[in-house]
Amino acid sequence: MERKVFQLGDIVLMKKNHPCGSNEMEIIRMGMDIRIKCVGCKHSVLVPRAKFEKNMRKVIRSAAESSADPSDADAGTENS
Ligand SMILES: [Zn+2]
Repeated sequence: MERKVFQLGDIVLMKKNHPCGSNEMEIIRMGMDIRIKCVGCKHSVLVPRAKFEKNMRKVIRSAAESSADPSDADAGTENS
């Protein structure tokens, strides 16, 4: 079973196409609900996390693919 991992700024592939024809979305806000922005038409929608996880297929491009350290995903503000 594959667990879905995603984070703020990721570009994800959705199972269903947006009406504009694109099925790529960018995660622009995370919380109880997730706000995603259509890459095709720049329209943003707020969806419950459970629904988002069900509807997303995979992460196409991770915002943090250069620093792949899962242990400190929440730090972010260190400046070394
Ligand atoms: Zn769209």
